[in-house]
Amino acid sequence: MQVPAPFEYERATSVDHALDLLAVLGPGARLLAGGHSLLPMMKLRLATPEYLIDLDGLAGELGYIREPGPDGLGDEIRIGALTRHRELLESELLAQRLAIFPDAERVIADPVVRNRGTIGGALCQADPSEDLSAVCAAVGARMVIRGLEGQRVVDMREFHRGPYRTAVDDGEMLVEIRVPIRPAGGSAYEKVGRRAGDWAVAAAAASVSIADGAIEQAGIALTAVGAGVTSAEAEQLLVGRAPSEGLFGAAAELAAAACSPVSDQRGSADYKRHAAGELARRALRRATGRALRAQA
Ligand SMILES: Cc1cc2nc3c(=O)[nH]c(=O)nc-3n(C[C@H](O)[C@H](O)[C@H](O)COP(=O)(O)OP(=O)(O)OC[C@H]3O[C@@H](n4cnc5c(N)ncnc54)[C@H](O)[C@@H]3O)c2cc1C
Repeated sequence: MQVPAPFEYERATSVDHALDLLAVLGPGARLLAGGHSLLPMMKLRLATPEYLIDLDGLAGELGYIREPGPDGLGDEIRIGALTRHRELLESELLAQRLAIFPDAERVIADPVVRNRGTIGGALCQADPSEDLSAVCAAVGARMVIRGLEGQRVVDMREFHRGPYRTAVDDGEMLVEIRVPIRPAGGSAYEKVGRRAGDWAVAAAAASVSIADGAIEQAGIALTAVGAGVTSAEAEQLLVGRAPSEGLFGAAAELAAAACSPVSDQRGSADYKRHAAGELARRALRRATGRALRAQA
C-alpha cells in the first residue's frame, strides 16, 4: 500500500507556533521537516499520524550554521534543526572547521533528498543506518530540545534511546545542534555503500584533537552496525598517546569488536564488522592528518 492513511495538515509559522500546535493536537501529531523519512513511512503505513505539523515555514528561523561567537557559546558551532543536507554540504565554515560534515554529506542520498532533508529530521528519525548520528556522536555534539516550559540540552550520546526513539518527548522539538570546536582538532567520515548515494553497509566517524604531540581528545562512532555504536574503550586507548598507524589500528579493532552488525542483503555480519574496523582506522588517520594541519 503506497498511499498514506488520512491525516490533517497544519503549517507552523514559528517554533512557538509549532510547540502550541503540538500541545493542542496531542500525541497524534507528528512534525514534518523534509519529509524524506516520514512520508515513506506513512506510505508504507508504518506511521499513521492524525496530524502533520509542517516545519517548512521555519527554515528562516531554524535554518542556519553559525560561527562561534562572543555570546557564551564561543567554542561551539551552532546548526539549526531545519538546516538542509545541501547547506551542510556547501558550508565553508564546516569545510574549514568540521570537515566530517561535508565528508558525510557527500555520501548521503542524492541531490533531491539533500535539497529537502534536514539535520533535525535525520537525527530525530534515529535510524541506526543514518549517517549524521555517528558524525554528531563522534564530535561530541549537544542537542537543544525545546518545549513550552523551556529548553534543555542533551549530549548526542544520550539523545538516541534505541532505534527510532529519541530523548525528544511529546510536546517538544529539536531546535539546534551545538558542536564544540577544538584548536588543533580534525574529523573525518568514511562510508561503504553498495552504490553511490545508498545507505551505509558500514561507516565510521572519527574526531581527534592534538596537543604537545599527543591525542588530547578522541571520538569514534560507527554507522549501520548496531544501534548507537560508540566505543569508550577505543577512545580511551587513543587519549594521551602519540598518533601512529599502530595506534589507529588498535583503536579501530576495539571499536569493531564493540559493534553488533546483523547479516542481511547488504552483507554478512563478519564482513560488516571487518569493514567497520577498516573504516574506523581510515577515519582516524584522516582526522589526525587534518588536526595536524590545523595546528601547523
Ligand atoms: C532515497 C533516500 C535515500 C537516503 N539515503 C540516506 C543515506 O544514505 N544516509 C542517510 O543518513 N540518510 C539517508 N536518507 C534519509 C534522509 O537523510 C532524510 O532526509 C532524513 O533521514 C530525514 O530528514 P527529514 O528532514 O526529511 O525528516 P522527516 O522525514 O520530515 O522527519 C523524520 C522524523 O523526524 C521527526 N522530526 C523532524 N524534525 C524534527 C524536529 N526538529 N524535532 C523533532 N522531531 C523532528 C519527524 O516527526 C519524523 O519522525 C535517505 C532518504 C531517501 C528518501
